[in-house]
Parts: sequence; structure tokens; C-alpha cells
Amino acid sequence: MKKKRKRYKIRIERLAFSVSVISMLILLVLNGAISIFTSNKDKIDDTTLLVKSKQNFIVCIDPGHGAYDRGAESANGVFEKDVVLKVGLKVGQILENNNIKVVYTRKDDKTILGSDDREDLKKRVQISHDNKADLFVSIHCNSYKDTSIKGIELWCNEPNTKAELLAKDIQEELYKLKYTEKRNIKYQSNSLLYVLKNNDAISALVEIGYLSNKEDSKFITSKDGQAKCAEAIAKAILTFKDNIKK
Ligand SMILES: [Zn+2]
Repeated sequence: MKKKRKRYKIRIERLAFSVSVISMLILLVLNGAISIFTSNKDKIDDTTLLVKSKQNFIVCIDPGHGAYDRGAESANGVFEKDVVLKVGLKVGQILENNNIKVVYTRKDDKTILGSDDREDLKKRVQISHDNKADLFVSIHCNSYKDTSIKGIELWCNEPNTKAELLAKDIQEELYKLKYTEKRNIKYQSNSLLYVLKNNDAISALVEIGYLSNKEDSKFITSKDGQAKCAEAIAKAILTFKDNIKK
């Protein structure tokens, strides 16, 4: 009996030893797995951040007017709503090719954003807001009874703001195309420009030229002119994005 108990005791001790060795091994393996998991997780987080910093920049492109609202009209019957839609879609396409998320207030001429002008403008701002846009760029064409008036006109809320920088960047890039003059940057103060005043995003409104002016109109209603304007606006947005990150 005594011998048996001793052997039994030895077995228990061996068993205990084995259990503790196995436990240690399990712990070691688990620890390794955890550290592998953690370092992978860190790596995944890093990449996610990288992707985020590239793709999380959101630009809302707002081609003015649309559907029943034709906007200005050129002497030969081209409507502002059609010019700015073509330019706006092209701007968006270039930005998307540069890993920027783009939202549009309208992508066709059928979309009715509101039952009246006020509702329409409100909806445009709402789209920008709902999509958490960083930038909002509204694209328009000018018109004036004096047909000699021409040029690129930019609007923003206030001077000495990021929005003014954006407006200037857009104006300078368009001006480089040499199709017209540049006009002074304008600041909206009395809610004349709803889409700027009520917008959380850094916002600018660009009038790419005067449809009432022969020279401006010739360029901005041409396919080539529209493509060039779109490239210039997109380039300005990309430059602005890079500058505010620094
Ligand atoms: Zn307009």
C-alpha cells in the first residue's frame, strides 16, 4: 500500500509537471499569436488610416440650376444649366481619378431638387452636409445686359478664409487658360448666395464666364473649353487639398 501510494504520488507530480509545461507552452503560443495579431492589427490600422487620408476627402460638386431652371442663356441659345453640368461632371471625374470621393448635387438634367428656388438651394446644401463634404464647389455661368462684360468671377463667404484661398486657386487656374479676364473675388454678405452662406464645407462658387459675352460664351460652350475649364477647376481643388494638409 505504501509503495502504491508513493507511485501514485509520483504520477500525480508528473501529471502536475506536464500540465504546467503544457500550460506554459499554451501561454507562449497564445502570447505569440496575440503579438502577431496585435502587430497585424496595427498594420491594418495603419493602412486604413492611409486609405482614409486619401479617400476620406470629400468634395461636393454643385452644377448650378437644372431641369426647369435653365439659368443664363447665350446669344445662340445654349443654357447655363447644360454648360455647368458638363463641366461639373468632368471635374468630378478627374477628382475621382485622383482618389477623392465626389458627391454631386445633380448628375443629370432631370433631377428636381426642390419645388422652388429656395427649396432647390436648400437641398443642394443638405446633400453636401449629409455627405460630410470637406469642400463644396458650385459651378455657374454669368450673364449681364452689357455684353462687353466678361471674365471669371469667384465667390466665397469671407475674406482671409480657407474658402477665399480655394476661390483664388480656382480663379488662378482658370485664368491660366487665357480665354478671358479675371474679376475681383466677391464676398457674399446678405445671403444672396444661399449655397455658400449655409454651408458647413469650405465653399466657393465659380462663374466660369459670361454667356452674354461673345468671347466668353464661345469658349465655355465649346467641348474643348469645357474640358479645359474642368481640368483647371479640378487642378485647383487638388492643389488646395494638398496645401491645407501641410
Ligand atoms: Zn447660375
